[in-house]
This record gives sequence, structure tokens and C-alpha cells, in this order.
Amino acid sequence: MYDIVIIGSGPAGLSAAIYAQRENLKAVVVEKEFMGTGQIAESERVDNYPGLYGETGFDLGEKFRTHAEKLGAEFVEGEVTEVERVNGNFSVNIDGGESLETKTVIYAAGTQRRKLGVKGEKEFLGNGVSYCAVCDAAFYKDKITVVTGGGDTALGDALLLSRFCKKVYLVHRRDELRAAKSLQEALQALPNVEILWDTVATEIKGEDQVEALALKNVKTEETQELPVDGVFIAVGIVPVSRLLLGMDVCDEKGYLIAGEDGMTKKPGIFAAGDIRTKKLRQIVTAVADGANAITSVEAFLNHK
Ligand code: NAP
Repeated sequence: MYDIVIIGSGPAGLSAAIYAQRENLKAVVVEKEFMGTGQIAESERVDNYPGLYGETGFDLGEKFRTHAEKLGAEFVEGEVTEVERVNGNFSVNIDGGESLETKTVIYAAGTQRRKLGVKGEKEFLGNGVSYCAVCDAAFYKDKITVVTGGGDTALGDALLLSRFCKKVYLVHRRDELRAAKSLQEALQALPNVEILWDTVATEIKGEDQVEALALKNVKTEETQELPVDGVFIAVGIVPVSRLLLGMDVCDEKGYLIAGEDGMTKKPGIFAAGDIRTKKLRQIVTAVADGANAITSVEAFLNHK
């Protein structure tokens, strides 16, 4: 019987694992990917985590993980298929048949990239459609690419791609970007990046590979077909909360409702990281959530 099963090995889950070890709690982290560190691995550069200026997301994630491992954290690889309440405790069922008995669960499964929802997106995934510029930018040396979205991720992706590609288009549905001003300034200074304002993608086209992106200007209704080799989709995030949807613990967008202490309305289930209802989804707030959740778990176990 574990004290805690931590679902997710991103910054929140790894921080919870570190704090659990420090409190001598019997904890295990269930991770979907072997040696995973969550979406942080897709950030090319993290400039807002105090003390580690200019670190790549991948390296920072590795540091979190190594730290947890050095303290003796236990990991299990697999996808959680069900969290069941059993005799006042929980059974966390993993694909492949393994089942972990635990007194509490910290849900730190984070978010995943939102789909654009246009024709060709699914069909060309891996053949010109990507959700991860850090993973795929190098395949587009001297090519033409397009990034959709106007947030931090889209601009970070466009900045990275501009170092490889001869031309990068940023397609944004409004006439104002949501991303941090520093990213906007950096992007607008680049000669090989062009922003297409008030524009939405309507279809990704090609034979075996992406060859063009069909676009529509939402103000003028004008349409055009842009010849491109790659389409990078960065239109936001959605919570990974499939498992919780029947439990009446999520808000209308699927985020797990909890305050800073991570307590949900189901006793014994705690939230940490991007999955939690909150204003600022950053690495620094995710690691804080992991620590706070362990404090709440301890208080819960002491009163159980
Ligand atoms: P985001 O901030 O939600 O931005 C999503 C962008 O996609 C917005 O510009 C939005 O347009 C656009 N969009 C959404 N749905 C669309 C659709 N169906 N068609 C076309 N465009 C669509 O998402 P994000 O950039 O992935 O960032 C997520 C969170 O992570 C944010 O809190 C962000 O600050 C954080 N983040 C931080 C860092 C960092 O600090 N280094 C890096 C990456 C991300 P509108 O603007 O019109 O809504």
C-alpha cells in the first residue's frame, strides 16, 4: 500500500516526488513515457525559471528527474486507465494489468496540445504536420514552414524555426498577439518571419507530404493557398483529464478544480500542475503545486 500514487512525471509530479521522498512517504510516480519529464521537454529555452537562465526545457526536466531519482523516487511506466475507490483507499489501474493500491492520489497529468481541427491535420501528422518544433525543426532546414497560433508556444516555435527555415509564416486569427512582449519583439525583428494577421487555416493539403496550407482572412474573407513544407500547430493546450470526467471534479474546460493546497472535492485526490484550475501555468507554478500537494497529503494522512 502506497501513501501516494503521483500520476504524471512533469515538473509538478517530479516536484511532488522530491517532496514525498523528503517527507519519507511511500510514493510512486506513474509515467506514460519511459523517463518522461512532460511537456517541458518541448520548450527550446526556458528563461523564466529562477536561477537557471537559458536552460533548455529538456535539460531542466532531466535535472528535476535526476534530483527525484537521487532521493530514491520510484517510477512505474504505463498509462493509468482507471482510479477506483476501494475500501476508503484507491486502486490505480495501469494498462497492462498492473494495479497500485494507495491511500492518496496526486493527479499531475498536465495538458496536451490542442488540435486545430482542420482537414489534413490528422492525415499529415509526421509528414509535415507537427506539434513540437523542438523535436522537428531541424528537419526543415532551408524549407518553408508555417506556425499557427499567437501565444508563447507559437512564438517560441516560430523563433526556433526561423533559425533553420528560409521562411516562416505565423498565422494568427486576430490582429494582436497573446504572447509575451519580449517574444513579440524578438520575432518582429527577424527578416525571414512574416505574420499573417486575422487569418485562419482551413485545410492542410498535399499528396504524401504537406505541400500547402489553405488560409482565409477572417475580416476580408479572402482565401489563399500558401505553399509550405511544414505546419506547426500551437493553438493552446487542453487538460489531460479523461480519467476524471465522470467524477464531477473538473470545471467546464476539464481542469481539475483545486486551490493552491491541491485539495479537490474528493477526499484523497489532489491536483498539481497545469491540470489544476489556476491563472498562471508555468514551470515555477507547477513545481510549487507539487510541494503544496505533498503538504496537503501529509495533513490528510495524519487525520485519516
Ligand atoms: P495559449 O496562450 O492559450 O495561446 C493559444 C493561441 O492559439 C492563442 O493565440 C489563440 O488565439 C490561438 N488559438 C486557439 N485556438 C485556436 C484555433 N482554433 N484556431 C486558431 N488559433 C487558435 O497557448 P500556448 O501558447 O500553448 O501557451 C499555454 C500556456 O503555457 C500559457 O499560459 C503560456 O504562457 C505558457 N507557456 C509559457 C512558456 C514560457 O514561459 N517559456 C512557453 C510556452 C507556453 P487568441 O489569442 O485569439 O485566443
